[in-house]
Amino acid sequence: MIRSKLESRLVGARKNLPKGAKAVLEALQKAPGMLSARDLSFRMKLSHQTKDEQSKSPGLTTIYRSLELLTRQGLVQAVSFGDQEKRYEVVEPGHHNHHLVCKSCDKSIKLRECLLASLEETIKKDYGFSVSEHLLELFGICQSCELGTTLDNTDRR
Ligand SMILES: [Zn+2]
Ligand SMILES: [Zn+2]
Repeated sequence: MIRSKLESRLVGARKNLPKGAKAVLEALQKAPGMLSARDLSFRMKLSHQTKDEQSKSPGLTTIYRSLELLTRQGLVQAVSFGDQEKRYEVVEPGHHNHHLVCKSCDKSIKLRECLLASLEETIKKDYGFSVSEHLLELFGICQSCELGTTLDNTDRR
């Protein structure tokens, strides 16, 4: 249900996009999770069967430029992973996601909801400040990494 709504809104927004940006958006939609521009370039090349088709696959510069455009249009969200390259994912226009990023295995878990909406209200009330946007990524250790690294300490629990 949510997906089909997303699809139709994306179809509308997509009409005015340059060809390269369209291809980037499509590839990013097919991705299982967030991708860096480099990952995306790699995946887009792989998705073409022949050498001739591969040569038509957009270069890294086009991909960077397209991602910038898509991010500006609110179709894609850029997520900064600390010192690493930015990763990108498709979002519903006007919406955004927050992630829990595991520093050990690099896995990211999407939060089901934005936790900052009520904080923004408090800030408006207490400071008279209207927040228009925010960024929040939480870094730590995921459950499976924690279990893996604490196997010899299980009697502690
Ligand atoms: Zn992990
Ligand atoms: Zn939020």
